[in-house]
Amino acid sequence: MIIAGALLILLGVLLFVLGVGSKDLPEPEPVSPTQHLEERKARIYEGLRDLQFEYRVGKLSDEDYQRTKLELQTELASVMAQIDTIQPKPAKPTPPKANPNQCPHCNARFPQPLKFCGECGKPMQEAQA
Ligand SMILES: [Zn+2]
Repeated sequence: MIIAGALLILLGVLLFVLGVGSKDLPEPEPVSPTQHLEERKARIYEGLRDLQFEYRVGKLSDEDYQRTKLELQTELASVMAQIDTIQPKPAKPTPPKANPNQCPHCNARFPQPLKFCGECGKPMQEAQA
C-alpha cells in the first residue's frame, strides 16, 4: 500500500514534469521544433533510470516496476513518433562514400585501392586537389 502510494506520487510528479512543465514554460528561442520533445525524451530516460534504480534497491515490486516501465516506454514511443513526424528522416541520406576501389571514371573495380585506374589510367580519387 505504501509502495503503491509512493508510486502514485512518483507518477504524479512525473506526469506533472512531463506534461505541464514543458507547456507552461515560456517558449525560449525556437532552437529546434523538436527540442521540447527531445527534452521530454531525456526526462523519460531519466525516469526509466530512476525506476530501475528503485527496483534494484527493492523499493518497487516486480509488478509495479513492470507496469511503470511499460508506461514510460509507451510515453517514450509516442514522443519518438512525434519527433519523427516533425522531423522526418531526410529523404536523401548522404550518398555512400565513393568506393576507393572503384574508378569514378570508368567504374572499373579493383581488389585494392589504387592511385590510378588500371583500366583507363585516370586518377582513382576525384577532387584530390
Ligand atoms: Zn578507370
